Amino acid sequence: MKFDFSDYPISGEAYSKRPMAFLDIVPGKVLGGIVELALIETGDRGARERWQKAQLRNVLAHASKRSAFWRNRLGSEPASSRLAALAILTRTELRQQVETEGSLLRPSDGLETARHATSGSSGRPTEFHISQMNGRYNDVRYLAQEFMDGKDLSVNRTSVRTAKGESAKKVANISRGFTVEKKPSWLGEIGSTFKSGELKKIDYLNPDLRDLVRELRKDAVGQLVTNPRMAAAIISHSGARLLRDLRVSEFVAFGETVEPGLYRAIADQGIPIRSTYSCEEVGPIGFECEATPGHYHVVTSNVIVEMEGSYEIGGKKLGRVLLTHLHSYATPFIRYDLGDLALLSERCPCGHDGPTIHSLFGRVTNALKHRDGTLSAFLIRGEELLEIVDYTEFRIRQVSLDAITIELGGRETLTTEEIGKVTAFIKARAGDEFRIDVIACTAIDWGDSAKRLSFRCEI
Ligand SMILES: [Zn+2]
Repeated sequence: MKFDFSDYPISGEAYSKRPMAFLDIVPGKVLGGIVELALIETGDRGARERWQKAQLRNVLAHASKRSAFWRNRLGSEPASSRLAALAILTRTELRQQVETEGSLLRPSDGLETARHATSGSSGRPTEFHISQMNGRYNDVRYLAQEFMDGKDLSVNRTSVRTAKGESAKKVANISRGFTVEKKPSWLGEIGSTFKSGELKKIDYLNPDLRDLVRELRKDAVGQLVTNPRMAAAIISHSGARLLRDLRVSEFVAFGETVEPGLYRAIADQGIPIRSTYSCEEVGPIGFECEATPGHYHVVTSNVIVEMEGSYEIGGKKLGRVLLTHLHSYATPFIRYDLGDLALLSERCPCGHDGPTIHSLFGRVTNALKHRDGTLSAFLIRGEELLEIVDYTEFRIRQVSLDAITIELGGRETLTTEEIGKVTAFIKARAGDEFRIDVIACTAIDWGDSAKRLSFRCEI
């Protein structure tokens, strides 16, 4: 390896005019941060693990000092770095800690904190606290990936995401269902050092797909950063060929796993696909390996990942993903059960010497539970269902070990024939052991769940 930036597009204003300085303070700090993170994640494993142990001791000592909840869990030896000996943190326990104790950082710590929440895809949203450092870390870590992968910084980036908070209020007043914001660079605080393509941010709620595609056609898309569901919606509206017309250089997926049909449709257009495995609670967990699709190099500068238990699904025995967030000082996440199923390897087939997540199934609540204790994947696509029955939206729920309920929105009634067809379709996918209830309704009550999951196991 050599440090050589001759291939990088350097801005004319990259360097500082101050005496005895090279870069301005902010870009200098961010670049320094990028080097530190790459050094930890790709450097010597032993040194990295020593650093992780020290960070783990720090966060355990903090939790134990500031929180009765954590003192109870950690016992008299909070400095222990034997992670596997500690109790698993469930979502219910997390809520209890947050509700009774609030943030564990104080104004005197000099770090701002904010309330944050999950999207509620696994039920009601879970609230917790994050610190200023967590937001800064995430920004630097995502930038670091661009350099670690040697990406072309000159392409544009188009980020299409669900509107949240303030942005959701704005979108709600716009009939086409999305807002557009443009910036000259997507490199954030190092945008003054390196030249990059433009950033276009599209925040949506219920977007009119025709208008959305029209907006996307206005500029070269470059990196398309969105969730697989939105990518699938765009493709089912305009065909996968559109991605080439839009000059998509890469599909960067987040939020959920890319199902095989979508993966093929995009790959067939010659467009690379990279997924990021992350969650609201801790930020980035794994970045998909460039050489071995489906393998995620664990973001070891941020989290320690463990697997617990054994769940048979599609012939594989997967474990539940446990996360320990090394910088979780406002709300500690120590052996936190995210609810996802996956496998963990000691290293990646590509040669990367660090823990690697693969066979990522996603939320255990996306799987169908069988009486014999096994799980199976259960994916029903809207298009398939539309071939047999008309509806505006649908939701399937497993309500008990032998019963599945499907709601079809936009329907006052259903004919006996339609009910028969839908029942046969679901049974063919789920198995004959299930009783199927088909319910017509004018609108589905999604509650406060932002992600409208088409299937959820509720037992
Ligand atoms: Zn790899």
